Amino acid sequence: MKKNKCSFCGRSENEVPFLLTGIDGFICSDCVSHANEILGQIKPKAKPTAAKKNFAKIKPIDIKKHLDEYVIGQDEAKKSLAVAVYNHYKRISQEDTSDVDIEKSNIILVGETGTGKTLLAKTIAKFLDVPFAIVDATVLTEAGYVGEDIESLLVRLLQATDYDVERAEQGIVFIDEIDKIARKGDNPSITRDVSGEGVQQGLLKLLEGAVVNVPPQGGRKHPDQKMIQVNTKNILFICGGAFEGIQKIIARRMNTHTVGYGMKEKNKAIDKNNFLQYIVPQDLRTFGLIPEIIGRLPILTHLNPLDRDALRNILTEPKNAIIKQYVELFRLDGIELKFEDSAYDYIVDKAVEYKLGARGLRSICESIMLDYMYEAPSKKEKQLTITKELAAEKFSKTELTI
Ligand code: ADP
Repeated sequence: MKKNKCSFCGRSENEVPFLLTGIDGFICSDCVSHANEILGQIKPKAKPTAAKKNFAKIKPIDIKKHLDEYVIGQDEAKKSLAVAVYNHYKRISQEDTSDVDIEKSNIILVGETGTGKTLLAKTIAKFLDVPFAIVDATVLTEAGYVGEDIESLLVRLLQATDYDVERAEQGIVFIDEIDKIARKGDNPSITRDVSGEGVQQGLLKLLEGAVVNVPPQGGRKHPDQKMIQVNTKNILFICGGAFEGIQKIIARRMNTHTVGYGMKEKNKAIDKNNFLQYIVPQDLRTFGLIPEIIGRLPILTHLNPLDRDALRNILTEPKNAIIKQYVELFRLDGIELKFEDSAYDYIVDKAVEYKLGARGLRSICESIMLDYMYEAPSKKEKQLTITKELAAEKFSKTELTI
């Protein structure tokens, strides 16, 4: 009888450890291992990057629409972000043959804390399916001082991609609390403080686009540590900050306190409740950002403070609104959860009263819902309606800690 042979090395069944049978031939286990080794050495063809893949399909209007599903209000910020992000990824996929170099469009979002800055950046990154990292500017220091080196801002991004440098190099980094590295005071010659200006100088390099050595684990650099080189040329930086007190700077610039010739007419249109909408780069400079940094954050936009209506909408409207999450949690236990309108009003009232903004909505809901979440799964009732009275009763029993 004819012996089966490996179709690759030609050895027969009893000369090899194991012979696999295919439709039209055979392969021995040695050849399988060998083939595996070869495959391991071949570099896989570069996948189309997320940025290039998405850019073709997703237009600014689509980005804004998507943001609308998750973020309430903030239309101007959404529009600016949508255009900036779209242009950024268009720039990345620009053919090298063009004579026109499109400059990077890093963004700066100015708005009170809890108005949706982080949420906007996060939602965009998720939509585009690009690596995204949130970092806090307050941990930064100039090399040589206690704290983290500027380069460590990129560690999170590397971690988000499992250290896939190529993907990280097209990601988005959200730098929170950028206002905390502002120079204190207007006059650079008198108040040159290391924690401010030096860090800004360091940050400038990253924003502009440079090849930087990143310590893989973050923190401070050690001489014997192996570094990962990351080019920040195509990383989009979105900076956010509350810039507390900047309203006064804007107001001063707009000269609202002076009653001069023609001022009355001009002031009529000014909305004094929300000066942020009039912010210009010069105000950031007065606040203490160095001009070079401002120049590298060409898209400046603001977020509006959240009023009662906005808070109310945040509670129920976004795709993953807090209330929708509770309803889902109860549904999984077979319980139909409802809220009366007056209960929503009560929650919003408390958020306003405690000056907690959107961030407080969850804590307030949590303190109202805790007992129910604890007891309801063991009870027979399959329906639960939260009225204003029930909400007030539960809330009054808890110590709200934020
Ligand atoms: P910050 O402006 O300080 O970065 P965040 O984006 O972190 O604020 O917002 C804190 C939380 O408040 C978010 O997780 C979100 O639940 C809620 N929130 C804030 N603003 C909005 C908004 N405009 N639309 C929907 N939810 C919001």
